[in-house]
Amino acid sequence: MSLDGTYDPNNIFAKILRGEAPCARVFEDDHVLSFMDVFPQVKGHTLVIPKHSSARNLLEEEPQVLSPLILGVQRVARAVRAALEPDGLVITQFNGTAAGQTVFHPHFHILPRWDGVAVGRHASGGMADPAELKALAEQIAAQIT
Ligand code: 5GP
Repeated sequence: MSLDGTYDPNNIFAKILRGEAPCARVFEDDHVLSFMDVFPQVKGHTLVIPKHSSARNLLEEEPQVLSPLILGVQRVARAVRAALEPDGLVITQFNGTAAGQTVFHPHFHILPRWDGVAVGRHASGGMADPAELKALAEQIAAQIT
């Protein structure tokens, strides 16, 4: 998909938001939902998405959605740090197929990084064990402040 187009209300993140698909939930408030990436590039790969959005990427997003979204990203990233004690964190997002985007609802990736631990390729890994994701989600959720 190009950068332009119409929002698909049946994308997987929209289904998760409507409760039509499962997720290992980390955190939610009125504005954002955070859950574990089911194809993690590294242990603790966490996503943060806006709850009320009809944008397909960051470029299309409304300012009133972006502000609480980035605050949610910071809040969850701090919890990931506290829970998993990484040496660093990558926070990233992709816009358009050419850039690597595969789900067309805005979202940020939080990837904890440990010295000497490689990260898998984006959107090409295997599916994680749901029980492990649930345990990680609970570990991170316990550190939300
Ligand atoms: P993008 O490629 O659009 O930047 O990121 C989409 C992310 O969503 C990918 O990292 C992919 O692993 C993840 N993903 C795809 N389908 C699902 C799903 O059904 N549940 C969860 N939790 N993550 C998903």
